[in-house]
Amino acid sequence: MTREERISVRGIDLLVHTDWERGFPGLVAGTTVAPQDYGLSGSDSVWAVSERFESLTAALECRACVVGRQVHGARVEVVDPSPPFGFCVAGDMDGLATDRPGVLLTVTTADCVPVYLLDPVSGGFSLLHAGWRGALAGIVEQGIQTLEALNGAARTELRVHLGPAICGECYEVGPEVLREFGRPGTDHGILDLRAWLTEETIRLGVPASAISASSWCTRCSADLLHSHRGSQGTAGRMAAFLGWRVRYE
Ligand SMILES: [Zn+2]
Repeated sequence: MTREERISVRGIDLLVHTDWERGFPGLVAGTTVAPQDYGLSGSDSVWAVSERFESLTAALECRACVVGRQVHGARVEVVDPSPPFGFCVAGDMDGLATDRPGVLLTVTTADCVPVYLLDPVSGGFSLLHAGWRGALAGIVEQGIQTLEALNGAARTELRVHLGPAICGECYEVGPEVLREFGRPGTDHGILDLRAWLTEETIRLGVPASAISASSWCTRCSADLLHSHRGSQGTAGRMAAFLGWRVRYE
């Protein structure tokens, strides 16, 4: 288990994956925290949210930032051509990939799992938004295949991190979801999505030693993180991010 560290960068509170940032100089990997809301369809105006993304991008020493309109699917797209600067909203997709320094990939979450993929050999990286629907639809496989196609990333070289999300003890789901996950005949039960995604990622050929999972639970830490479940649907959204600082271009 990995516990992202709380830091503040230019007045923006973050949880950062310090193991990766230390291990790969120039990498920025982490998530924003509550109460800042990065939701594109939340209560704050789209102008205020855009400005928030631009401030985050500058604080992380990147020049452009991309987020997709998330639809709980498995579509992953390479950001190409990469935007020269500013904040850019892509079409209906739950995953983004690039190998360009200075381009900050983001996904917004509030219980769903941000999945970070990094190919340290080529510098290629991908960030995915995985709820139970996207997980079952194969978004992790799509992310891996996109990195393979982008610059030949080998599965055995990939690093994968499953970020802050609702934990197995907090995520109670009904029989229709359990049936999808191969547990028919159960009325209701708990689902540990990060544990399931870990097994899935191993099945896809990534070594278990290259996979880490955050110990942060959005619902257990509702004072720090946005939780859709913990707020009965009124929560804002965090922005998970992954990129290379622009000076490493
Ligand atoms: Zn929890």
